[in-house]
Amino acid sequence: MSQTAFSTLNLKPDLLSNLSSLGYEAMTPIQAQSLPHILAGKDVIAQGKTGSGKTAAFGLGLLDHLNVKRFRVQSLVLCPTRELADQVAKEIRKLARAIHNIKVLTLCGGMPFGPQIGSLEHGAHIIVGTPGRVEEHVRKGFLNLDDLNMLILDEADRMLEMGFQDALDAIIDAAPERRQTLLFSATYPKQIESIAKRIMYKPVMAKVESTH
Ligand code: ADP
Ligand code: MG
Repeated sequence: MSQTAFSTLNLKPDLLSNLSSLGYEAMTPIQAQSLPHILAGKDVIAQGKTGSGKTAAFGLGLLDHLNVKRFRVQSLVLCPTRELADQVAKEIRKLARAIHNIKVLTLCGGMPFGPQIGSLEHGAHIIVGTPGRVEEHVRKGFLNLDDLNMLILDEADRMLEMGFQDALDAIIDAAPERRQTLLFSATYPKQIESIAKRIMYKPVMAKVESTH
C-alpha cells in the first residue's frame, strides 16, 4: 500500500497543521485517490468500504473550499441516518478545529422541527443532514441553497435503498447547477450510476478494492 503524506496536497496550511495534531499523517488509499481531484474542483465518485476514511476525503475538500467570512450555506452533506449525520458532523468539526467561527449544523429527521428553524435563522456554513428533513426545510423556505457550491452524497447506495430518491431529486433541483458534486458509496449499483449521470459533471472515479 502506498503511503502518501497529506503534506503533498495543496491544502490550506491551517487544515494541514491540524491534521498532524490529530495524528493523521498518511492518507488512506481512498483519500489518496480522491482528494487531489476533489481539491481540483472536480466531481468525484468514490467507492470504498466502511472505515476507509471517506469522511475526511470530502470533509477536507469542503473545508478547503469554504470561505468562513461568507456566512452562508456553502456545503451540504446528505447521509442516510441521523447517527451517520452526527458522526460526519463530528468528524468535520474535528478537521475544522483550526478554522475559527465555523458553523456546522445538523438537520435530521426524528428531531423537533422548530429548533432547527431557529438554528437556520442563526446561519451556518455547512449543513449535514438526512434527505427527508433537509428537503422539508428547503421546500418550506427555511433553508436557502443559493450559495451552495458543494453537494456531497454520503453512503448514496443506502440513501437510495431507504427510499430517499425523491427527496434527493428535490434537493438537487433546488441546488445551483454550478457546483461540485461528490458521491460516496460502498457499492455502485445501476441506480447509483444513473443518478450520477444525471447530477454530476464528468465525474472522476476513485475506487479502492476491499482490503479485508
Ligand atoms: P468511512 O466513511 O469510509 O466508513 P470514516 O471516514 O468514518 O470511514 O473513517 C474511519 C476512521 O478512520 C475514523 O475514525 C477517522 O477518524 C479515521 N481516519 C480517517 N482518515 C484517517 C487518516 N488519514 N489517518 C488516520 N486516521 C484516519
Ligand atoms: Mg462514511
